[in-house]
Amino acid sequence: MTSETIKNLTQSYIMGTYGRFPVAVDRGEGARLYDPEGREYIDFTSGIGVTALGYGNAPWAEAVAEQAKKLVHVSNLFYTEPPAKLAEILCKRTGESCVFFANGGGEANEGMIKLARKYSFDKYGQGRSTIITLKNSFHGRTITTLKATGQDVFHNFFFPFTEGFRYAAANDLEDLKAQAGGDVCAVMLELVQGEGGVLPLDKEYVKAVEALCAEKDWLLLADEVQTGVGRTGSLFAFQQYDILPDVVSFAKGIAGGLPMSGILANEKCRNVLGPGTHATTFGGNPVCAAAGLAVQEILSDEFLEEVRARGDYLRKGIEALDLPCFGKTRGMGLMIGIEVKEGWTNKDIAGRLIDNGLLVLTAGPGMRLLPPLVITKEEMDKGLAIMKKVLA
Ligand SMILES: *Cc1c(COP(=O)(O)O)cnc(C)c1O
Repeated sequence: MTSETIKNLTQSYIMGTYGRFPVAVDRGEGARLYDPEGREYIDFTSGIGVTALGYGNAPWAEAVAEQAKKLVHVSNLFYTEPPAKLAEILCKRTGESCVFFANGGGEANEGMIKLARKYSFDKYGQGRSTIITLKNSFHGRTITTLKATGQDVFHNFFFPFTEGFRYAAANDLEDLKAQAGGDVCAVMLELVQGEGGVLPLDKEYVKAVEALCAEKDWLLLADEVQTGVGRTGSLFAFQQYDILPDVVSFAKGIAGGLPMSGILANEKCRNVLGPGTHATTFGGNPVCAAAGLAVQEILSDEFLEEVRARGDYLRKGIEALDLPCFGKTRGMGLMIGIEVKEGWTNKDIAGRLIDNGLLVLTAGPGMRLLPPLVITKEEMDKGLAIMKKVLA
């Protein structure tokens, strides 16, 4: 099929919920994508932080194919090996105690919110159900996670939303304390706000939030849907903040491209969601879990060090171009934000780069780059050359 036919079919038969760029993608290799006509694109997006190992990764594809042939799904009424092994690895690598597997980020956050509320209900009874989240956050598209999202633009159309969320300014401990009250059960935050514009929280602030949570017996909930699985140069971003959240959600990169998510909980929270309180039909699917194991196999500590080095290289490369439309860069590892200067718009810049063979993302008012974690120096150089050609 040609790009044109794919676009027309999509517009005719798929609900128009997405503002898509005018590119059809047919296949990929490493951090390079190709349209049906064979045109190459350098990928600085990973399908929004999902394809951590890039495209056509042979051990990953083999693990998925082998598991698909062996056993695709039996439900959580029975035991299977791949999710059990993956959960063990995630716990041992993070210091958390147990995992609940789900399918997408919003769904994982729903589980995290349910866990926080039930933890408090079990211990204190009703009336302690409010979760403080941060302004400018993003937590998902379900009715509850839209409300958890600290941006008014998301609180529209779908009334009534779930009650029980208040919003505090990021990096402002006093504002967080001002939101406190007898009705609070948890604080939920992204360590690097992703959709909001690649805004890392201050380490001092995060440590203080952890201490405040411990003091008040609020659960500390980290939404690592975007920052998790090596994206920031450690397996989870919280490891660079020197904290151990009570619950951590993960999704995007966990299975290298297949739909999978989950939450990690510490010992204190291990038994909160007992039998019958939470479930999902697909969660912990053996094929997705086998894919997750293949990702973990590659994400060694040495590999994560390379992710940090690649992130540094790309950021320095962008700053060295000194482009008129770009200000400072920020971020952690291969989660990079670029300020867009006044007089330019990020959507416009993204459109021009994409037209010229470089896929990029926007976030907040700036640019956001989430390249595959395996991106090579050559691929980064090609991307930088396109930036220079198009934006200088
Ligand atoms: C992407 C994202 C979500 C939502 O994940 P879905 O898989 O789209 O439901 C939630 N939180 C954060 C931080 C995200 O980046």
